[in-house]
Amino acid sequence: MPKNKIQFQKGLSLQNFLKSYGTEEDCRNRLFNMKCPTGFCCPQCGCNHYYTITTRNLYQCTACKHQSSLISGTIFGSSKLPLTTWFLAIYFITQSKDGLSALHLRRLLGISVNAAFRMKQNLIFAMLWIFIIQSTLLGYMKIQTTSSFIGSIP
Ligand SMILES: [Zn+2]
Repeated sequence: MPKNKIQFQKGLSLQNFLKSYGTEEDCRNRLFNMKCPTGFCCPQCGCNHYYTITTRNLYQCTACKHQSSLISGTIFGSSKLPLTTWFLAIYFITQSKDGLSALHLRRLLGISVNAAFRMKQNLIFAMLWIFIIQSTLLGYMKIQTTSSFIGSIP
């Protein structure tokens, strides 16, 4: 029987994950690079020069003084939880083969049930949204539940 490549893919160990995203600054830097891959660009005027307001975690444009937050417009925007907690949740949810309940997520992260439930819903919605966009861009979408086929775009 041939070896299942998906089951034996390398993955990311928790130790290596924590080396990369163990601090709030690591997570903020990663999010900044993802949100602004070519550097900061003011959403108001397009200026590339800014300074940070460290007490409130805001970026202020030097030209028009517009203040923007790194987490605004992201799934982290409506939450008061630290980015390290969100990144850990992403790690646990994506590393789980059989799915992860909100109760288990709560125990792993030490947060409330409601926060874990909302966090899981937001992350799954975001992953589903990315899947749909990628599938649509590739010209093919197939969503399959446990037993029934829902639909496709040829
Ligand atoms: Zn500006």
